[in-house]
Amino acid sequence: MKKEDVLALLDGVEDLITPAVARRSAFFKSLKCPQCGADGGSVISEIEPSDLEHVSEVDVVPYGRGRCLACNCLFAPDTKIVIERGSITKAIEPAVAFINNKP
Ligand SMILES: [Zn+2]
Repeated sequence: MKKEDVLALLDGVEDLITPAVARRSAFFKSLKCPQCGADGGSVISEIEPSDLEHVSEVDVVPYGRGRCLACNCLFAPDTKIVIERGSITKAIEPAVAFINNKP
């Protein structure tokens, strides 16, 4: 289907997806990694293809899991249960770099 045809079909239909994506993005940006404690936008939403099966009229955006960009752990965003452990050493600066940065 051409993009123009899709836009013609959606003309006049309320956009539910854009505000839902913005709310979801804000939620994930507010999360703190349960493993390394990284925050400030270090957590992103990771969505599996099977998550698309759970989209409904009420919840138009798949929820997904939290992926920490600092240590790479994967966790449930609501419960903070770690699904996949990342590497905590990735989130910590190497000791040598720390020593070299001392005045
Ligand atoms: Zn982390």
